[in-house]
Amino acid sequence: MSTAPTSTPPAPERPLPTPTRESQPYWDGLREGRLILQHCAKCEKARHYPRPICPHCFSMESTWREAPLAGRIHSWTVCHHPFNFFFKSMAPYVVALVDMEAGVRVNAPLRGMAEGTLKIGAPVRLAFEPVTKDVTLPYFVAA
Ligand SMILES: [Zn+2]
Repeated sequence: MSTAPTSTPPAPERPLPTPTRESQPYWDGLREGRLILQHCAKCEKARHYPRPICPHCFSMESTWREAPLAGRIHSWTVCHHPFNFFFKSMAPYVVALVDMEAGVRVNAPLRGMAEGTLKIGAPVRLAFEPVTKDVTLPYFVAA
């Protein structure tokens, strides 16, 4: 009688973004530790996530500008059952929706703040986690 070979399933891979022509400057900025936001060249409003057309005036012209890293919590959720297995070992974790000073909302993990201490309007700051040589992901910490 033979014994079944023991093997451990491969560890789930971390899902990573695939930058597009529209979003590449945003990802380049994160890699440099900066928040670079797309601004409409016509009405000047910032928009996030990058996209080809301004949602305010429908202009297709845009520029890129560095934005402050400060923001305030708009809302948050606590993930107990992540959809992707990679995040299972991290659960429970907080994902926040933050109103940035530049006027856009950014969605990213919020680290180092206990769930019971979170408050709408609490000041936070964007931070950067290098994941590969090309990809740096954003997260928030208390300001
Ligand atoms: Zn516009």
